[in-house]
Amino acid sequence: LVSRENHPERSTVHVGGVPIGPDTVTLIAGPCAVETHQQTLEAARMAQAAGAVLLRGGAFKPRTSPYAFQGLGEKGLRILADVREETGLPIVTEVTDARDVELVASYADMLQVGTRNMQNFALLQAVGTAGRPVMLKRGMNATVEEWLMAAEYIAQRGNLDIVLCERGIRTFETATRNTLDVSAVPVAQQLSHLPVIIDPSHSGGRRELVLPLTRAAVAVGADGVIVDVHPHPEQALCDGPQALVGADLGELAQVMNDFPALL
Ligand code: PEP
Repeated sequence: LVSRENHPERSTVHVGGVPIGPDTVTLIAGPCAVETHQQTLEAARMAQAAGAVLLRGGAFKPRTSPYAFQGLGEKGLRILADVREETGLPIVTEVTDARDVELVASYADMLQVGTRNMQNFALLQAVGTAGRPVMLKRGMNATVEEWLMAAEYIAQRGNLDIVLCERGIRTFETATRNTLDVSAVPVAQQLSHLPVIIDPSHSGGRRELVLPLTRAAVAVGADGVIVDVHPHPEQALCDGPQALVGADLGELAQVMNDFPALL
């Protein structure tokens, strides 16, 4: 179902009316985690000023350590819905458990399945019937084929509104958190009709890598970019070191505006 063999035209997925697909580079931005209403609203305004048309933000956070901030849960979803009301930005947020899909779908415009859950087949099946577009992040240890098979689980349940997100894979390299696999973009686009975007924040894990990797994403033909922004990264409860701050956003906007010239 997700293969390009029977579907030669590349697909466009609409999220709250916003297209993600060929002919454009969609900017999705927002805080890694929803912490407070004010923090989320400020991050959303920063994102919007940089040209973001969708707001990201995690209410359910799948953290490596069980002692790290796990997200605000439904309270975070309510904050996201309020900020959507205030900014007009449709929201993308992660769901980590099949039992929460209905709840998260009742607030979100797009459901995110994170890297750690790429092969959580019960979750994939549940988002396949949730009636919302899905962003499927590549498992940090997954091959492109495994990633596409995970997408197939969602599609098989009747949901073809899937966007693939390359967010870095595990390699021997320790200079970055994960290694952004830029080749995965054209490879996945050749094998599948689904849009493919890049997350330069979670792959590099460091603010100073986000803009160079965003340029790489645009140059390699990604259909969008999802980046973390935070009004006060030094106080962030999650992934502060990779969040862009106000000063970076003009440059981010420039990269997005210049994209046809980069191709
Ligand atoms: C995220 O985007 O909030 C996230 C946790 O990303 P990943 O699943 O790629 O680590």
